[in-house]
Amino acid sequence: MTINSNYNNLNKSYLFSTIAKKVKEYAGANPEKKIIRLGIGDVTLPLAPAIVDAMHRAVSEMGDATTFRGYGDEQGYLFLRQALCGYYSKKSVKLHEDEIFISDGAKSDIGNILDIFSKENTVLIPDPVYPVYVDTNIMDGRDIIYMNGNEQNNFLPLPDKNISADIIYLCSPNNPTGAVYTKEQLQLWVDYALENDAVILFDSAYEVFVQDKELPTSIYQINGAKECAIEFGSLSKTAGFTGTRCGYAIVPQELKRGGVPLRELWLRRQTTKFNGVSYIVQRGAEAVFTEAGQQQISSNIGYYKQNAKHITDTLSALGIWYTGGQNSPYIWLKCPDGMSSWEFFDYLLNNANIVGTPGAGFGANGEGFFRLSAFGSCENVHEAMKMLKRSV
Ligand code: PLP
Repeated sequence: MTINSNYNNLNKSYLFSTIAKKVKEYAGANPEKKIIRLGIGDVTLPLAPAIVDAMHRAVSEMGDATTFRGYGDEQGYLFLRQALCGYYSKKSVKLHEDEIFISDGAKSDIGNILDIFSKENTVLIPDPVYPVYVDTNIMDGRDIIYMNGNEQNNFLPLPDKNISADIIYLCSPNNPTGAVYTKEQLQLWVDYALENDAVILFDSAYEVFVQDKELPTSIYQINGAKECAIEFGSLSKTAGFTGTRCGYAIVPQELKRGGVPLRELWLRRQTTKFNGVSYIVQRGAEAVFTEAGQQQISSNIGYYKQNAKHITDTLSALGIWYTGGQNSPYIWLKCPDGMSSWEFFDYLLNNANIVGTPGAGFGANGEGFFRLSAFGSCENVHEAMKMLKRSV
């Protein structure tokens, strides 16, 4: 037998283990210091009451012979897909329930979708970016072309007519940069994909953080997108589901390549390799889209947004360049005094007792930049910003 030798081509990921090691060493040497973690990409607020109540009710149903359920509907329960159709209609996007596939999260879908594409395809991936896009393609041995995000383009790379690609990854609002494409910019991408017969994989995991009304929260708000894009959504950051697990993929009926509807391929792939998300979780997810659920999660998002605003206000006052924050839980800043990402990590840890994430961990273009997250507690963010002001 032989193993998939493409795994040998993966970069070893030392980012979070190196951070953990450095923080442990510092904490050991300075036990009296309070270390504030603004590096994590995980939420901290608990599930909203409407979600918890719905899940409790679902647990009771599962314990009663008259309401017990076994395997669920193939693409996810209709009640949840209908709730999502309702949610998208508020964005002026009309979806059919058949176009929505419920999953255990966007990460799985983003990795698994590659099953329906040939390994001969060339992929176009922004740098810096959520590392899953890169690693899942390396595992399959696909050729990757990187598109540069940098200070000049506000970390929002646009299509280059001289580059030909088959699969394009877009993440907006972006992890790690917090940057958000405008409708006009996304239109350029859709036009490019249509011209090149390419497919856009659009990751909208942070769409709920977009507050500027004119910014898009779904690729399907762009003309022509249904003929060239698959969208991945997640309740992880939207509704605190990082530990509960629920997401969805949207594969429009119009989307065909080589005359084959991609929706059919994805249906075949999912029904062969995936047996669905628990009924209890899907009932919790349905509650996210009720009036009470929407109110409660928007109060949680508002809390994180206050944190983001406090961070960006502080950076503006210090004259530090950044993107993100306004429409995203991430703030992506330029390390002061020309420091490298890791130099600034050490500097912040030692002088302000703040832990962030070095931008270099998200791609070559992340070098010299740094990611802060707004998912911490308000008290910690205020304390951290006081320390930052004193030390930079
Ligand atoms: N997409 C992006 C850009 C993310 O940052 C994350 C998680 O951090 C995910 C997808 C994964 O989401 P999920 O928890 O739904 O798997």
